[in-house]
Amino acid sequence: MSSEDLQEGDVTVSQYSAEPNVAYDRLYVKQRVVKVTRLNPNTPISNKEIRFVCLSDTHSRIERTPDAIPFGDVLLHAGDLTNIGLAAHVDTFNTFLGMLPHKVKFVIAGNHDISFDNSIMQNPQEFTKYIDVTRQYLQSRNLKSVKQLLTNCVYLEDSTAEVCGIKIYGAPWVPQYCDMGFNLERGQALLDKWNHIPNDTDILITHGPPLGRGDLSSMGLRAGCVELLNTVQRRVQPKVHLFGHIHEGYGMTSDGQTTFINASNCTVRCKCTNPPIVFDLPIPAGHSKSELAAINMEDVNLTHKET
Ligand code: MN
Ligand code: MN
Repeated sequence: MSSEDLQEGDVTVSQYSAEPNVAYDRLYVKQRVVKVTRLNPNTPISNKEIRFVCLSDTHSRIERTPDAIPFGDVLLHAGDLTNIGLAAHVDTFNTFLGMLPHKVKFVIAGNHDISFDNSIMQNPQEFTKYIDVTRQYLQSRNLKSVKQLLTNCVYLEDSTAEVCGIKIYGAPWVPQYCDMGFNLERGQALLDKWNHIPNDTDILITHGPPLGRGDLSSMGLRAGCVELLNTVQRRVQPKVHLFGHIHEGYGMTSDGQTTFINASNCTVRCKCTNPPIVFDLPIPAGHSKSELAAINMEDVNLTHKET
């Protein structure tokens, strides 16, 4: 048995981890790719299901068009809300979120949202001029972190939240590619992060794609993470894996178990023209939609208010 024929549940660093194009050629032939019909956002919402609306890679280009966002119960954003993480732009994004009618909103950061990355805040190096502007903005409002500006959503960073019994986990990490924030080396460093994802996650949100699903860059490079694909398929098997980052990879497929959604709203030329993708999940037994009304955003935000 080769190291690539592991049993379900075992995830170790792949021998092809550092060469995703090779990994794709060697491993991906066994993949099931099931076409998924996209849900029309105008479909009436059932009381027995939660309607999720997905955004990603909006890069400060969506804030003036809140009317273009389809209605739903829950909004998800898979990172790259800004271009360079300026606090003023995070604030504008938060105001935009406040205009949207979705009852709960979950947001993760992407590599462009550099001010969310604690290590860049501590050691900004080539980003010093942007981080200085962000620091001044935060000081003028007596805040310590840009994460505190996100008052209209739940910010997830290696953390879980639950809505109507549906478990959502978010993580910003990407394999080294375009640099900027939340970059980690391929292999063990990323697998260490993915190992925090709970087995019972229903919706996984990462900024970067897994290998082979919405990860082909216009340069012909596979930008996806091998260990993320293996974690999703061998261990977590979420109902939905939402991501962005590779704008060219916009769209959705399934492997029969997990629906993979690259929700990048911006195109490769950074025109914000890809429509938000929506999906429904059934509400688990013992839960009901009335729980949505009871969610107090100030309570759920307490965790990151302290950072
Ligand atoms: Mn992006
Ligand atoms: Mn990105």
